[in-house]
Amino acid sequence: TWKSERVIASRQGPHLRLAGGGAGILNFCANNYLGLSSHPEVIRAAVEALEKFGAGLSSVRFICGTQSIHKDLEEKIARFHQREDAILYASCFDANAGIFEALLTAEDAVLSDELNHASIIDGIRLCKANKYRYKHMDMQDLEAKLQDAQKHRLRLVATDGAFSMDGDIAPLREICQLAQKYDALVFIDECHATGFLGPNGRGTDELLGVMDKVTIINSTLGKALGGAAGGYTTGPKPLIDLLRQRSRPYLFSNSLPPAVVGCASKALDLLMESNAIAQSMAAKTQRFRSKMMAAGFTISGKDHPICPVMLGDARLAAVMAEDMLNRGIYVIGFSYPVVPKGKARIRVQISAVHSDEDIDRCVEAFTEVGRKHRALP
Ligand code: PLP
Repeated sequence: TWKSERVIASRQGPHLRLAGGGAGILNFCANNYLGLSSHPEVIRAAVEALEKFGAGLSSVRFICGTQSIHKDLEEKIARFHQREDAILYASCFDANAGIFEALLTAEDAVLSDELNHASIIDGIRLCKANKYRYKHMDMQDLEAKLQDAQKHRLRLVATDGAFSMDGDIAPLREICQLAQKYDALVFIDECHATGFLGPNGRGTDELLGVMDKVTIINSTLGKALGGAAGGYTTGPKPLIDLLRQRSRPYLFSNSLPPAVVGCASKALDLLMESNAIAQSMAAKTQRFRSKMMAAGFTISGKDHPICPVMLGDARLAAVMAEDMLNRGIYVIGFSYPVVPKGKARIRVQISAVHSDEDIDRCVEAFTEVGRKHRALP
C-alpha cells in the first residue's frame, strides 16, 4: 500500500509527458472532468490576475487578505449554485474541516454516510455533535438513525453528492424527503459533481431536482473548475456570515492567491456561458461505459465520469494498471484500505477533452490487458 508518485513533465491534460521519458501518455486518472486545467482562457485569466493583483496576500482574509476578486468569485459561486452567499477556503478539505465545528454543538447531531470522503470524516471528528454513521446510501438505516437523533436540538445529514471511489450518486431526493420528515438539514460535498452533473452542470442537486432542498454545499475549485486549488461553502447568508466569524481554516489560513482565483473565476464564466463542455463529457462517459461493458467488464456507478473497472483482486488491479501504462494509458489501481477488501479496481476518469479515439484506444488496451491477465474470458 506504499504509494509512489509518478512525475509529470508537462501540463495536466489528456496527453502527458512523464519525467524521464514517456511522452504521449493518455491520461485517464485526473479529476480534470471538463479539461479546464490547461484551457487557454483559464491560463490567461490566471496570468492577468497575477499581474494585476500580485503573487499573494501574505495575510488571512480578515486582516488584509480580501481583494475585489475574492468577493467577485464568492458572488459568482453563489450565483452558479443559486444560493445566497459563498465563502472561499484554501481547499475543500479545509471547507469540510471548518463547517461542522462552526455549525454544530454538543446538543446537535450529524448523520454521515459511511463512505463519505476523508475530509468530511475529519471535519465531523472536530465537532462535538453526536455522531451517527449510516450504511452507504441506505435510506432505511438513515431513517432509523434520524429517528434516534430526534432527541437532539438540530440534525444535519452529510453526504458526498457523488462518491469518488464508486462513481455512484447519493439518493438526494430520498435524503431530502427524510430530512423534511425528521426536520434535518442536508449538507452535500460536490467535489465530483460541480460543473458537470445536471442539465447545467450545477451538480447533484440539480441532477436530482432538489436544488431548493439542500441547505449547504461544499465543493472544490481543484477539479472540474480549473483544477488549480481552493474550496468553498455556499448556502444561506447567515451560515456564511457565521463561517467568516468562526470557521478555523478560514480564520487562520492565507487567502487564495490571485492566480488561483483568476482560474476558477474564468472556469465559472465558461460554464455559465454554455453547457456544451459538460455535455461533451457526458457523451464520452457514455461511450466509455458502454464499450467497456460490451467488452465484458463490470463498471461501477452510473452515468458518472468516474468509471471504476471492478476487478476484485488487489494484485490483478496493480498489474493491469502497470500493463496499461506499458501501452501508454495512465490509470491507477485502488485496493484495500482505500476501497473494501476484495473490491479492488482500476478507476478511470473521463474528461471532456478526451477524443473518441482516446476513449477507443483505452478500451482496446483494457481488452488486451484484461485477456492477458484473465480478467476477461
Ligand atoms: N471532498 C471530496 C469528495 C474529494 O474527492 C476531495 C478531493 O479529493 C476533497 C473533498 C478535497 O478537495 P480539495 O482537493 O479541494 O481539498
